[in-house]
This record gives sequence, C-alpha cells and structure tokens, in this order.
Amino acid sequence: MIVFDLVCEFDHEFEGWFKNASDFESQQTTGLLTCPMCGTDNVIKVPSVSHINFGKKEKQLAELIEIQQNAETLSNKITEYVTNNFEDVGEEFAEVSKKMHYGEEDERNIFGSATLEDALELHEEGIDVIPLPSTKKDKLN
Ligand SMILES: [Zn+2]
Repeated sequence: MIVFDLVCEFDHEFEGWFKNASDFESQQTTGLLTCPMCGTDNVIKVPSVSHINFGKKEKQLAELIEIQQNAETLSNKITEYVTNNFEDVGEEFAEVSKKMHYGEEDERNIFGSATLEDALELHEEGIDVIPLPSTKKDKLN
C-alpha cells in the first residue's frame, strides 16, 4: 500500500490509497481519480513523502480498494460494451433520440452526451435514456 497526499485544482487536499505508484498513474490518467470535496478529476500528487503502510488496517484498506476497483472495472465493462454495441452520436444525442422517437430516423442503439436538462426534456417526451458511469474527460477546462 502506498498513500499519497493529493491536491485538486481548487487546493483541496486529501489522501489517496493505491496499490503502487503505477496504480496511481493509471487512475490519474484515466480520470478515475477525483477530489472527494468537489469532484474534479484534475488532481495531482503533492510533492511530498509517500510511504508504504503495514499497519493493522492494511487488510481493510486492501478490501476497500479492491471493492472500489471492482466497481471501476464494472463501469469500464459497461462503457466498453456500449462503445462496441452502440453508435456514438456525441453531442447530437438528445436530437437523434427525439428523431428516433418520432420516426424521423431508424431506431438503433445510440449513446452520447446529454445535459441534465436534455435528459429531463427527453423524459417528458416519453423517451427513456439511461445515464452511464462517467468516462474519461478532457483534463483541462
Ligand atoms: Zn477539490
């Protein structure tokens, strides 16, 4: 186990537990690492001491991390399934959903991005859309 002191773009400091340094790297680069206070994935390691912990809580922490990683694996699998089986319509998601609903376009599996407002509007028109676990986003915005 390694614990890193982390800080987000808004200067929230928190600790992150990782199996090893590359585990941290991969979570950081895929945007899985988010600030517990504001949720941004723009998180960096505070340049300070990292250490390995062999304390009593190690087992619990290991279990916790495993549970967390299983959840991440599951969300990655869902994302992978959708990516392979659905057409990516990107920003046009709400538009294409409506067109399919009103028969202007062929019904098919699609995915894309929609704002909360878009989703509510679709729901009001009787079109059900399912939110997906968030996937990687652009780092800087
Ligand atoms: Zn934050």
